[in-house]
Amino acid sequence: MSTISSTKAGIFSGRESQVRSYCRSFDTVFTRAQNAFLHDTNGREYIDFLAGCSSLNYGHNDPVMKEALLQHIAGDGLAHALDLHTDAKSDFLRAFQDIILKPRGMDYRLQFTGPTGANAVEAAMKLARKVTGRHNIIAFTNGFHGVTMGALAATGNGYHRDGAAMPLQGVTRLPYDGYLGDSVDTADLLEKMLNDASSGLDAPAAIILETVQGEGGLNAASPAWVKRIAGLAREHGALLIVDDIQAGCGRVGTFFSFEGMGIKPDIVTMAKSLSGYGLPMALVLIQPEHDIWSPAEHNGTFRGNTHAFVTATAAIKTYWADGEFEAQIARKATLVTEELRKVADAIPGARLKGRDMMQGVDVGSGELAGDICARAFEGGLIIETSGPDDEVIKVLAPLTTPDATLKAGFDILHAAVRETMHKNKLAAE
Ligand code: PLP
Repeated sequence: MSTISSTKAGIFSGRESQVRSYCRSFDTVFTRAQNAFLHDTNGREYIDFLAGCSSLNYGHNDPVMKEALLQHIAGDGLAHALDLHTDAKSDFLRAFQDIILKPRGMDYRLQFTGPTGANAVEAAMKLARKVTGRHNIIAFTNGFHGVTMGALAATGNGYHRDGAAMPLQGVTRLPYDGYLGDSVDTADLLEKMLNDASSGLDAPAAIILETVQGEGGLNAASPAWVKRIAGLAREHGALLIVDDIQAGCGRVGTFFSFEGMGIKPDIVTMAKSLSGYGLPMALVLIQPEHDIWSPAEHNGTFRGNTHAFVTATAAIKTYWADGEFEAQIARKATLVTEELRKVADAIPGARLKGRDMMQGVDVGSGELAGDICARAFEGGLIIETSGPDDEVIKVLAPLTTPDATLKAGFDILHAAVRETMHKNKLAAE
């Protein structure tokens, strides 16, 4: 149901490419946003359970980040700097080193790529190939790593792969944790194939994985599986790339999604919430011994977005200097689980997916999930689906959403579930 005037709608449908997508589900014109709320031209308020697909983990227009950015702009701080040294970059590097890396006992070099997640993945895959002299990269079923050609080769989603209209090469796909059911450890298959010179699996340059598959349907790998894959990578001379673009920056409770899993990835990719403010920024973390790039070998005009450095530094200092934010995320995640359990209880066969603030409900059909999300939007909630058939209703609320707002959002979702199930029951009678 469109809530906008036809004049305003017309400029989008008449002028913007057919490739537009989220705006088809949330068909209104947004004007303002604050923390977990969005407002449209009709003066309507929406609760945001999408958060820029996990790019707004700290909510919209965080006041501390906004003030830092305003000051930077007011003082004629550089807006664009290629990869020149700037005070803003130096502040970010120092904050990342002192607040993120050192307390976790980590030592990584930071490569700023072009500002999308896909560009960070491209760089990570290229570097792994350069370091090992091998071409093959192992990726997993339902993994999503972006839609540029290299990253798309590692992405499982058939719809996006079809968009390439070219062979997507250099990647071997293997089953992710749980893909063959709870009784099969898919790491056994990888191990067997790596150890069998006649398995047909070319020696891998890297194994790339998400610890929780965001777009693939909120499949959460067990720490034991991730640790085994990391061990197999090491044993077989492949680099381990953890794609933390969606699951990182606190989404699953800790800054990096793999904390506590006992692994040390060779390469980590980050983007989405890294800038904290929704500004484009991407990063590749590289174990120092693998940082063998030649200058400008993977370059780009927009490497290191200076405004994003400013807000990212404020984000790190505000949220990660002590353990308070992590404790808050854990508490809110419990609330999300409780509410999602109610959603699952109301839909026969539905089950919970994901973990922490990256959870959802598999309702068994994309049509049902889509109907529920459409009704939720009518009720004032922005919430999307994920999974191979879009069958998972996915909650990606900002991590800063007040408890009362989370509950209000879930009230809208529960009502949408009730109405949709009632309508479907009537239709079936
Ligand atoms: N990797 C993961 C895990 C993602 O979730 C995404 C985007 O959803 C990407 C890579 C690609 O990031 P971008 O859309 O910024 O290119």
